[in-house]
Amino acid sequence: MKIPVCLDYSATTPVDPAVLQAMLPYFTEHFGNAASHTHQIGITASNAVENARISVACLINAEPNEIVFTAGATEADNIAILGIAEKYAAKGNHIITCVTEHKGVLAPCKYLQKKGFSVTLLPVDGQGMIDLEQLKDAISDKTILISLMAGNNEIGTLHPMAEIGKIARQHNIPFHTDATQAVGKSPIDVKAMNIDLLSLSGHKIYAPKGIGALYVRNEPAVTPKPIIHGGGHENGLRPGTLNTPGIIGLAKACEIYLETAPAERVRLKTLADRLYDGIKTNIPDVSLNGHPEKRMTHILNLRFDDLKAADLMKAMPELAISSGSACSSAENAASYVILAMGIPENIACGSIRYSLGRFTTQEHIDFAIKTTTNAVRSLRKQALTIE
Ligand SMILES: *Cc1c(COP(=O)(O)O)cnc(C)c1O
Repeated sequence: MKIPVCLDYSATTPVDPAVLQAMLPYFTEHFGNAASHTHQIGITASNAVENARISVACLINAEPNEIVFTAGATEADNIAILGIAEKYAAKGNHIITCVTEHKGVLAPCKYLQKKGFSVTLLPVDGQGMIDLEQLKDAISDKTILISLMAGNNEIGTLHPMAEIGKIARQHNIPFHTDATQAVGKSPIDVKAMNIDLLSLSGHKIYAPKGIGALYVRNEPAVTPKPIIHGGGHENGLRPGTLNTPGIIGLAKACEIYLETAPAERVRLKTLADRLYDGIKTNIPDVSLNGHPEKRMTHILNLRFDDLKAADLMKAMPELAISSGSACSSAENAASYVILAMGIPENIACGSIRYSLGRFTTQEHIDFAIKTTTNAVRSLRKQALTIE
């Protein structure tokens, strides 16, 4: 077993070997610029990109020409939010989002706020869930965008996409979702859920870092204004020479999910349940952050009220886990997502996130149970002797 054992798949994933194999020819043999249609080298790249669009579209039940390739989910979030804001600025200046969103959504919203937009940050309950009545109450005739994530990256809580989509459609308001964590792990159907814009990222689904996609609905059409200007690539929404190897990798990653997702979800749930049960059995006073049922089970965010996540992680360097999101773990502050659930700051700091993935085995889980048990027991014993 390789140490540290990685249980931090929500921060990033390794490239799947099959994804890497699919990509390799597009670095060397098929190196063409997908926009060069005057010769076969470019046409080969272009054909591969168009085939890739089909695979990405399939995973979320979109049409291939609704997929815009981007450099990742943060870029997709920005194109969607800033682009819609600019497009509909004459109609209204109000955006609805949520306190527990990823910074990829919160930061462009904050930027717009400085520019004079009004942003409603919906609160969440103790399980990280929004209240649909509060969403309805927040809507006004000035609302031009609802942006609510599918699955939360820290606690796994799944927002009710279909219900949100229905409300947005009834009011004729574009609905964007950051589905970076949920794609492949929880069923997403942009048609059935009335999703108008959706962000996803390669490196959370076993494709490389630096590739992602934005789904933009055709019918009824939502048309964000471009925020990046250049050649006309990707319907003018994301100009710049296409990252052909990355796109091929993203498509292969989506194909793997299309084939394996249902069985893999069952496998990961079994492992995550084993981890939670094992820790609960060995250690008293541990609680689950997030929704007990409406969540992505491969994310297990646990709280030890008497401990600090930083101390816990220091006590078990054999485990690669995180406290909160990758960006806030460096700051050693309580996660804004955990705080948003109404958990007081002094105990919120005792939260750690295990996230399981494709290469997680039962051996890893049993090792994580043992390591966590030993670390918690030892820290609690130290606390007793100090007192
Ligand atoms: C990782 C993540 C992002 C950022 O994706 P990048 O491709 O790294 O820009 C955005 N939103 C969520 C929910 C994420 O988990």
